[in-house]
Amino acid sequence: MRKISIFYLLLILGFVTGCAKNPVTGATELHFVSESQEIKLGEKNYLYGQQAGGGQYAIDPELTAYVNEVGSKLVKVSDRKDLPFEFVVLNSSVPNAWALPGGKIAVNRGLLVHLDNEAELAAVLGHEITHAAARHGAKSMERQILISTGLAATNVALATKAKESTAAKVTTGAIGAGAGVAANLVSTKYGREAELEADSYGMNYMVKAGYDPNAAVSLQKTFVRLFDNKSPNWLEGLFASHPPSQERADANLQRALTMPKGLTLGKERYQQKIAKLKNRESAYSAYDDGVKALAKGDLNNALSLTEKAILQEPNEALFYGLKGDILSKQDQKEKALAAYQQAITYDKNYFYYYHQRGLLLEGMGRKMDAKADLERSQQLMPTEEIANHLKALG
Ligand SMILES: [Zn+2]
Repeated sequence: MRKISIFYLLLILGFVTGCAKNPVTGATELHFVSESQEIKLGEKNYLYGQQAGGGQYAIDPELTAYVNEVGSKLVKVSDRKDLPFEFVVLNSSVPNAWALPGGKIAVNRGLLVHLDNEAELAAVLGHEITHAAARHGAKSMERQILISTGLAATNVALATKAKESTAAKVTTGAIGAGAGVAANLVSTKYGREAELEADSYGMNYMVKAGYDPNAAVSLQKTFVRLFDNKSPNWLEGLFASHPPSQERADANLQRALTMPKGLTLGKERYQQKIAKLKNRESAYSAYDDGVKALAKGDLNNALSLTEKAILQEPNEALFYGLKGDILSKQDQKEKALAAYQQAITYDKNYFYYYHQRGLLLEGMGRKMDAKADLERSQQLMPTEEIANHLKALG
């Protein structure tokens, strides 16, 4: 009874676009998030999702171009090649990948280092492409709209309440609730059925694009192995939304057995494309340890780890951002400002450096400079915290 009345309310509100076939599975479903709403939602939240996930991997644009190239091959053979798909690499050691409705996809460098070949990358991207193509994000929103009793919502996006999420816990800093919708979309748990569906149709796309589907099996095996080793980064990343399971590994294996043999793995090509990333791995692990040392208040250790990271890779903005945080804690304000400036020189598009420098300048009484930085931070990644600081600054 209740369901029927909600249906009519949604109809009146203009949400119901009617019964439609799922573009991937062909199943008949009730759709009340339209394709143009999917696209709008993805576009609106993509940049915030990237900021919340560590920002773009600016130091290596060739790697992002490569991921786009592999992604585009899969999109071309997918069931929704007309969606405005986009792929970015994010600057985070947390192994993760996600897709927003409308085809906006991200993969972290922390996942790329664990892949063996191009076909495994295609398995990751094919899986995420299916989440977007099969409307998994849109469907979970539709469920939330049905569950939600506040039907006065005039905007579909409003139905997704801002929540704290693991995706928003960036290693380098605290994120407020302002970009909560993006964070929520990014960390959506689709459920067991959708995950199996994403694996299965993702493998179809792999084969159509010429990739060996056995890579979807080896990928799951890698996930299970890393999960068993209880690597802490893995627990907070992909596995928070994608628990690895023998079930998925087995299902992929059974499916691969029925698929064409002798397709491309592309190991050499992949290893060549991630060679620079691999070279920087020890710098990033020194940085990650530095972040932990700072959180524990061990400032001297944090600083020496940061210097070590900078020595190995002098062009990574993140390292100077951390250096600024440490110097700021040590009350070396001018040096901290210089470190943030250096971070911004290497990457002017990540909110965190403006966020931190703005707060430091505010504390130093330099109101105008503080305001400019905090406004830039808000532009890139709106948070309630900074909105309050800006209000106070007048
Ligand atoms: Zn998934």
